[in-house]
Amino acid sequence: MKTAAAALLFVQLALATAVPKLETKISYDGYKAFRIKTDHNTAAIESELSRLSVVPLNLDTDKHIDIAVAPQDVAAFEALKFTTDVMHEDLGADITKEAVFAPYEVTAQAIPSLTWFNSYHAYADHVKFFSDLSAAFPQNSEIFNVGTSSQGRNIFGIHLWGSGGKGSKPAVYFHGSVHAREWITGKVVEYLTYQLLTQYGNNTEIKTALDKYDFYIIPFVNPDGFVYTQTNNRLWRKNRQTRSGASCVGTDMNRNWPYKWEVAGGASTNPCDETYKGAAGGDTPEIKALMAFTETLTNGKGIKLFIDWHSYGHYILIPYGYNCAAKAPNHARQLSLAQGLSTRIAQSYGTRFTTGQACAALYATTGDSTDYLTDVAKAEFAWTIELRPGSSASNGFVLPAAQILPSSIEQWEGLKYLLANV
Ligand SMILES: [Zn+2]
Repeated sequence: MKTAAAALLFVQLALATAVPKLETKISYDGYKAFRIKTDHNTAAIESELSRLSVVPLNLDTDKHIDIAVAPQDVAAFEALKFTTDVMHEDLGADITKEAVFAPYEVTAQAIPSLTWFNSYHAYADHVKFFSDLSAAFPQNSEIFNVGTSSQGRNIFGIHLWGSGGKGSKPAVYFHGSVHAREWITGKVVEYLTYQLLTQYGNNTEIKTALDKYDFYIIPFVNPDGFVYTQTNNRLWRKNRQTRSGASCVGTDMNRNWPYKWEVAGGASTNPCDETYKGAAGGDTPEIKALMAFTETLTNGKGIKLFIDWHSYGHYILIPYGYNCAAKAPNHARQLSLAQGLSTRIAQSYGTRFTTGQACAALYATTGDSTDYLTDVAKAEFAWTIELRPGSSASNGFVLPAAQILPSSIEQWEGLKYLLANV
């Protein structure tokens, strides 16, 4: 009996260690989100905020601080009388509205319909959408996998090519959804892919572009994080990697690329922070896989244009992030092209995108994708684009589904300009 009891206790202990605690979904019901105008008094405002239960939403806090205030502290926050705009009256209610996903229905071998862009979707449906889209255009596309995430999901992409055949031209290379909560990026990247494939056969401008470049589009480079935003915490940013000795989960993949990773000031060394850079450059399984894949492009026909799609803020950011004084050799050309892109984007709905060097226009970042793509992978252009909303608009990561199409259309017009002028 004694032995049996001891064995049972052992089994219970083993289970307690092996089975992770069932995590509940974090609710933002009743959270009110504000944009606070700082007038460069960021430190003083942050000191007041430290007494309240708030969720920070932005990292570029010099001009404004975006926060979601917990229901019990909304009155105390409003009594502080900061100059604010309301981003969400009730963040939880807006998340609930956003999570009404339209069902995805497509018959075999048919091109998915444009109604796909009327709502956000579950991750499994995104995977199926790309697979169906590729199946409808087998002469010009295929699905590929670059590797496996921390939790074992495939990191998939879609490869598009034109009349020269598969892999015959320099690469145009996109990453989406590296920061899990930036849902609009996956949708915009999907729309660009959809337009490239569906217009190839009937639009000379698109045919010229696809005959000139091979496109490698990875819409969800952080699939674990994205799934987690749908199951547990809508505002999750990092990957879902656990590390021995760290109580917090997740690494900021866009601070983990092994280039200028060691430079101080552009990332956090604390595993609990949103910008945690990892224990060593490239020590996340996702970045390892992406590095290996990127190398195949560099060693193939080279990389003409790389874009890492993010939200939010309306920015087109050129290298570098790690040092405001460092300029890419083709800095002037990059800047003029980015300004041309900004002008073209504005022609659709008047949306104004700010252009500039990442470090100066937004904030310093180390171990980011665009610095790595520029200096290690030798991309001619490597940019970060921060999508809607902008500095004057409401909402943040939780962008209403009605803005998916306009966000996508203005970027599609911009991409056509880029492909003709790059
Ligand atoms: Zn981001």
